[in-house]
Amino acid sequence: MSHQFDTRTQPDETQPHPQGPYHREDLERYYRATQEIESDRHHIQDATEELRELEHTGAVEVFQQQVDLLKKRLVNDPKFFNQLFISEGIDAVAWAFQQEELSETFTHTFWNLLLQGDDMSTLLLRFVWNIPLKFKRKFIRALDEHFSERYPMFKGLSKDWPGNNSIPPYMRPAEERSNDFDLVNQGYLGYMGLGYSYREVELFVWLEVLRDKQCDDRPCEMGVPRIDGGENRGGCPVKIHIPEVLHLMGEGKFRQALELIKESNPLPNVTGRVCPQEIQCQGVCTHNERPIEIGQLEWYLPQSEKVLHPEKYLELPEVVSPWATAERPPIAVVGSGPAGLINAYLLSKEGFPVTVFEAFHELGGVLRYGIPEFRLPNALIDDVVKKIEQLGGKFVRNFIVGKTATLEALKRAGFWKIFIGTGAGLPQFMNVPGEHLLGILSANEFLTRVNLMQGHREGYETPLPETRGKQVMVVGGGNTAMDAARTARRLGGEVSIVYRRTQAEMPARVEELHHALEEGIQLKVLRSPQEFIGNDKTHFVTGARLDVMDLGEPDASGRRRPLATGTVEEVPVDLVIMALGNTSNPIVKDAEPELKTSKWGTIEIRKGSQETSIEGVYTGGDAARGGSTAIKAAGDGQQAARQIIGDIPFNASEIKSLVAHAEGYTKQGQAAQKILEKIELAENIVEFVVYSPLIAKSSRAGQFVRVLGWEKGELVPMTLADWDTEAGAITMVIQGLGSSSMMMNRMEVGDAFTGIAGPLGLPSRLHRYEQGETVAFCAGGVGLPPVYPIMREHLAMGNHVTLIAGFRSKDLMFWAEPDERIGLLQAEYPDLLDVIYTTNDGTFGIEGFVTGPLGDMLEAAKAGSGRAVGEVVAIGPPLMMRAVSDLTKPYGVRTIASLNSIMVDATGMCGACMVPVTIDGKLVRKHACIDGPEIDSHIIDWDKFIPRFQQFKKQEDRNRQRHGL
Ligand code: FAD
Repeated sequence: MSHQFDTRTQPDETQPHPQGPYHREDLERYYRATQEIESDRHHIQDATEELRELEHTGAVEVFQQQVDLLKKRLVNDPKFFNQLFISEGIDAVAWAFQQEELSETFTHTFWNLLLQGDDMSTLLLRFVWNIPLKFKRKFIRALDEHFSERYPMFKGLSKDWPGNNSIPPYMRPAEERSNDFDLVNQGYLGYMGLGYSYREVELFVWLEVLRDKQCDDRPCEMGVPRIDGGENRGGCPVKIHIPEVLHLMGEGKFRQALELIKESNPLPNVTGRVCPQEIQCQGVCTHNERPIEIGQLEWYLPQSEKVLHPEKYLELPEVVSPWATAERPPIAVVGSGPAGLINAYLLSKEGFPVTVFEAFHELGGVLRYGIPEFRLPNALIDDVVKKIEQLGGKFVRNFIVGKTATLEALKRAGFWKIFIGTGAGLPQFMNVPGEHLLGILSANEFLTRVNLMQGHREGYETPLPETRGKQVMVVGGGNTAMDAARTARRLGGEVSIVYRRTQAEMPARVEELHHALEEGIQLKVLRSPQEFIGNDKTHFVTGARLDVMDLGEPDASGRRRPLATGTVEEVPVDLVIMALGNTSNPIVKDAEPELKTSKWGTIEIRKGSQETSIEGVYTGGDAARGGSTAIKAAGDGQQAARQIIGDIPFNASEIKSLVAHAEGYTKQGQAAQKILEKIELAENIVEFVVYSPLIAKSSRAGQFVRVLGWEKGELVPMTLADWDTEAGAITMVIQGLGSSSMMMNRMEVGDAFTGIAGPLGLPSRLHRYEQGETVAFCAGGVGLPPVYPIMREHLAMGNHVTLIAGFRSKDLMFWAEPDERIGLLQAEYPDLLDVIYTTNDGTFGIEGFVTGPLGDMLEAAKAGSGRAVGEVVAIGPPLMMRAVSDLTKPYGVRTIASLNSIMVDATGMCGACMVPVTIDGKLVRKHACIDGPEIDSHIIDWDKFIPRFQQFKKQEDRNRQRHGL
């Protein structure tokens, strides 16, 4: 059947049936008589007689013969009837469409047919999709006129349709949604919540598709060429064949449309929701006033499948795991953001055994820890992960490439090629006065506490800054700023966004900005913080001085440069969230000298390729681009996958061996981190030996690990007290102070930590003191365990060591017996190790603090009567470290403090472990997790640093009460 609108002469509606060779009047009488027999018992006698008479007319005989013939055909060739009725029906429909307007009866009948969702209705969809625009308009007019009572979204739809009018997806009302974390943009499926059926929603979607102009030059997919010949403007970064997708949907072939999308993008349910469509596919739509809702359609397709067949949604045809077939060499993917996920998906699909190594305990990258659930439900990321797993892909969580293992180590472990999708997770700050104050944090930290750690939910341990009823200021104008602002709003804050340009220049997705404003968030544009003001006692921020800005000439980004006007405004504020963009995390780069990076820290790639300066190592997404978009990251992951699938230089048995190695390594990474030994060292102080073979293999003195005790727990840093490579075990000593550490100390042998990641931080920088100087360690309480491995290294190098270990009292001491760690070291290095114990109450050793004996040493050294002090290492409570630092400063002795600060991710991503230091008279921020944990104590601004430990005290007290601790 032709899909084009049939312009043949149409039948007369009053004579719908063509004339036959028989006498029509006889037939009509015959028909009436049969009807009467069935319907009217009083006339039955007359009618039967009439029938008998008519049965002998020629017309009825021919008719009966034809009926018999039709009966036979019906049995032998039912499809024929289908075709017959369809072509007849379509002819009738086509005729109706040629009338001036569609009648109410026709429109109802037609819509009801469409609602059937059967073959016939698909045919009708196809029919309408293929008719010229003027007829489509007629249809929309009819819907508007006859159906807007039943479907309020049809009211007024015909005005300026299709260019400037459409059915919008369903948004939850602002007043309802700004109090919870449920999905805001519910898409077309959201109409089901209002009582519309699945099929009705499908038709709304189809009506949106019907607006498509079916452009030949495919701007939505390809973008629009630039005059200067540069990269096309707009278009789809992963080149989804959007025109074909729309065509399939227009013809009612929704499932085929989804399959087509998935050929170029396995994450449509994600990208459809978060892509900045207004600068990509929709930005160049020829309906420039009201572009086709391509993003909405993109995610509608997978989501509707999920709604319709929840049990089947994740089913894939049975696949034999590439690990089992071992026909291709293994690939390592680093990072589980969109770039890594898409890469892993495509390579697994191609039959490569793939392991994804992810730094966090949850997968998805920014999609999980950055973008809130009211925009992107986590379940969607879980779906993608499940699909990769079904294809045989494996995931190792809590594995930090560059720390747990280098790229070289991964290659040695059997991985042939590596894709780095580590993102750009390092938050930027303004470096203005007062930025160190409590209550000023990065958007990464804030969002991680909420999205990843679920701190806002009952029963979760991670503390959140107080927001309810508070003045919250978010600084920035991108998606991160919108997400932080809207999250703070949902947590009860009075939120304003401060941005240095105007609303028009804000880089956020238009929809997010629009939603933020609807939710009652204030915009303070042309403003930029000059300084933050705090309360001297609490150290919390109380106000901000804002420069009033104006826009000058365009800068390198093409946007007009913001310039301070000289006017300053002061506003009260309780919480400040910095959303100024992210730069690259240096962890991988620092561990890989061969990996070339740009001056911004992004990983460089070879021209026309995703391959880095290291052969066989590829990259993409934010790691290579700097902060970009999810779809661009996905596009890079896809490109890299295509390039990775190259000539395989191994024979079958070599491949099998690589696969076996890589699988063994993956299993080690996935192994439960179980407690092998638990020793109660003193009241509230427990030593745990934990199975963690890959961390044990890489640990160095001075490093620490990040521990998640249980699923709802918080991420806390713990120093590495020891490790045993052969046994694959690490040792941590935990003092039960806060609720998390107290809960962990209740764990028993055989229990597993939910996740331990590491080793983190920089190892100690060890110096060989040739002149016999001593290295003095001041260990306060559980400062002793982190001191122990560093001191052991110094001793092994031949340095003299003086350990001053301070405890509150004798019963809190540990490791001091001859068969315990310190005792054993003394026995091993009798000439190199001096040990001095102090107790605050004098119950053992010297009464007082560690500073007592240290002061004596420094004095003696100064007087030339004692050993010179090469350096001092202080580890313990912050006040103790400060006291040591203050003591050594006048003597000019290099002093190191090892800082165990408040952290969330411990890899530089949150910025929470900020240490204010003064360099060349300027206050700058260092981060204990990536610049430390060891930091020159003499440059630390202790007045500003120490209060940070009190930041979450209230929340911590509440948690303790909750656990009855
Ligand atoms: P990421 O998503 O950053 O993932 C990197 C992953 O690598 C992380 O899981 C990280 O833990 C892991 N990792 C890092 N280092 C290591 C290591 N050494 N070893 C192992 N694993 C490591 N884009 C949009 O298109 N639309 C939006 O609406 C949008 N909103 C955003 C909102 C926020 C709050 C933020 C922060 C970003 C937003 N973006 C948005 C940007 C977008 O999310 C990113 O461009 C995209 O996620 C980058 O993907 P990626 O795979 O390169 O890296």
